[in-house]
Amino acid sequence: MNQDISRDPIAFISQADHALSTLWIKELQLAMPEEKILAFSDMSAIEREQCRVAIVANPDPAELSTLPRLEWIHSVWAGVERLMADLGDTKLKIVRLVDPQLATTMAEAVLAWTLYLHRQMPLYKQQQKLRLWKAQEYITPAKKTVSILGLGALGEAAAKCLISAGFKLCGWSRNPKQIKNVQCFSGNDGLKEMLAQTNILICLLPLTPETRYLLDAEKISMLPAGAELINFARGAIIRDLDLRAALDSTHLNHAVLDVFEVEPLPPNEWHWDHPRVTVLPHCSAPTNRNTASAIVAKNIENYRLSGAIPAHVDTRRGY
Ligand code: NAP
Repeated sequence: MNQDISRDPIAFISQADHALSTLWIKELQLAMPEEKILAFSDMSAIEREQCRVAIVANPDPAELSTLPRLEWIHSVWAGVERLMADLGDTKLKIVRLVDPQLATTMAEAVLAWTLYLHRQMPLYKQQQKLRLWKAQEYITPAKKTVSILGLGALGEAAAKCLISAGFKLCGWSRNPKQIKNVQCFSGNDGLKEMLAQTNILICLLPLTPETRYLLDAEKISMLPAGAELINFARGAIIRDLDLRAALDSTHLNHAVLDVFEVEPLPPNEWHWDHPRVTVLPHCSAPTNRNTASAIVAKNIENYRLSGAIPAHVDTRRGY
């Protein structure tokens, strides 16, 4: 049991505008009334000296480096790719948001956009433009294999949702897994085997040195002709020009893209006008301030009681 349970002030550090930062601080303060949560700019020199924990949402690393006793930071996002890139080589422990509500929201988005592809909505939209009255052949979900790259907090929840909708499910992770009604794969050979039987591929991997440009021309060519893709993870997991070539050749029928290497997606990018692409503005699973604050509060309370820093990101592994 840690003897030092004193409640040093908690910094909220974000490059978000003042109004949004104020909303976050209000919600966090409500979730942990016994703590003192302060915007970085409102902290005195003594408070900065005392601070051991910071809650962050796209922080300026320079601000973090002015807190000499800082031990760990709690991000209010699930993905920590940008944070790790911004911080570089750091001794700080990074705790990310693992929120069942976020997993539910992502699972809902995965189901919605899988059904969008499954029920051929992009094609019906095109037909409407042409005033073409033509019912396409209906295929049951049981005849479609949906594969998920990444079987973590988000991937597993999405898999369960898709199973309830009747799809056949496959999934790929770093370590071998067993999930009921999911054919699980791992390793390079596992990936190839899975891709070969996939109708709709969903990306829910973290972006790490190992997953950067994982989906290149070679991997995309392993998918059956006419396969479709949903990327809800990070843009750089797919080699963008290889994706474009696969869509141009119609090897891939359609891609739903919520994430891009550069965000917001610049207006001159090819994706906007491509008939086989649906562009979404990184909206598949936004953090819920209310549930996220409750989770951050619980993690901080445990730390106050035991001194133990919550499960944190393995910076060598990259997630
Ligand atoms: P997570 O719980 O850490 O799960 C990551 C999964 O990816 C795990 O199953 C892991 O395998 C697998 N994985 C990692 N590296 C791999 C590799 N080299 N080969 C094979 N599998 C690998 O993460 P999460 O909470 O599910 O979140 C996933 C990502 O979703 C985030 O990193 C973020 O980029 C993205 N995201 C997007 C949005 C949005 O709005 N678009 C919102 C939130 C999050 P193991 O199980 O074997 O470790």
